[in-house]
Amino acid sequence: MSIVLNSYMQSDVVEWRRHLHQHPELLYDVHKTASFLAEKLVAFGCDTVDTGIGQSGVVGIIKGRLGAGPVIGLRSDMDALPILENSGKPWTSKVSGRAHSCGHDGHMAMLLGAARCLAKTRNFRGAVAIIFQPAEEGGGGALAMINDGLMDRFKIEHIFGMHNEPHIPIGQFAIKKGAMLASADTFEITVNGRGGHAGQPHLSVDPVIAAAHIVIGLQSIVSRETDPLQAVVITVASIHGGDTHNVIPNAVTLSGTVRTLRSDLRDFAERRVRDLASSVAAAHGATVEISHNRGYPVTFNHDVQTDLAAAVAQSIVGSQGVNSDVHPRMAAEDFSFMLEARPGSMIIIGNGETPGLHNPAYDFNDDAIPFGVGYWVTLIQTALAV
Ligand SMILES: [Zn+2]
Ligand SMILES: [Zn+2]
Repeated sequence: MSIVLNSYMQSDVVEWRRHLHQHPELLYDVHKTASFLAEKLVAFGCDTVDTGIGQSGVVGIIKGRLGAGPVIGLRSDMDALPILENSGKPWTSKVSGRAHSCGHDGHMAMLLGAARCLAKTRNFRGAVAIIFQPAEEGGGGALAMINDGLMDRFKIEHIFGMHNEPHIPIGQFAIKKGAMLASADTFEITVNGRGGHAGQPHLSVDPVIAAAHIVIGLQSIVSRETDPLQAVVITVASIHGGDTHNVIPNAVTLSGTVRTLRSDLRDFAERRVRDLASSVAAAHGATVEISHNRGYPVTFNHDVQTDLAAAVAQSIVGSQGVNSDVHPRMAAEDFSFMLEARPGSMIIIGNGETPGLHNPAYDFNDDAIPFGVGYWVTLIQTALAV
């Protein structure tokens, strides 16, 4: 491993990372980022470099020199967040109100570093698809790339992803088989009553009372209807209704999120949110309109690829540096769509004691770069060994 870490490391990859950090772009509008990445992939000598996949995704193909074999996809996200950065770093964002506060700059730089090494050595069979994906932060860019033919066009058989995480030490990895991140859906419930004078409630249908019962009732789906050992989150995160103290409003709107680690519980929770909200509203003489929007599915790591990923990480940092049965998180990630399309696995790489993801003070920790590049290169050389 030391060869990879020393020869292809720090200075260039750090420079790319800081350049990307200074020029953050949002969702699908990552065209400068895509140009930067594509130019690098061409310069490294990738066999093909395609842009505009899923609007603004980039794919570079690198063929091994050791004969025929499968194509393995390595994926990095590309987009930043609408956050005003206050990291105080010399390479802070040059675009006010936008920042790489989730470390996708680091993910891109590490995958570029791996692409350079793999294109130079080609010490593997088959091929590797270097995948840069737009719109992870709520835009479903992974699905857009899949719908644009990503998997079939490049004949990708297995897929791997990586995300950094603060408070896991530098030089450590975490992974698990099965559900590692949650599904994340959103709902909006409009409770329609009949407004009127606050002093004459008997002449109205009060949507505030109905909405309050719905908020409480939704919590019983988790506490009374699901297995206590299975994770489900139902959060009502906003309530809007009424303008003043002496008028009962016509309507109240609730919105929130439903998260699970199992697709059957995801279906169950959606059904029960709908049933419970309409029944409780009806009990108060009100009606509801419900929109339940499916977001990212459960990020589900496949067994064989997760064993491989954990073994590769252990070969770099030792078994004590890899937690191969980490607790799942109730955050979500659109790499889940790629894991639904092909077998694969996502690994977490330690970012050290930095502020948390999506925090304005967050900055990707460049000390993680050698471990991330080393993981990608070793993964390909192991998975595609002769
Ligand atoms: Zn994020
Ligand atoms: Zn992220």
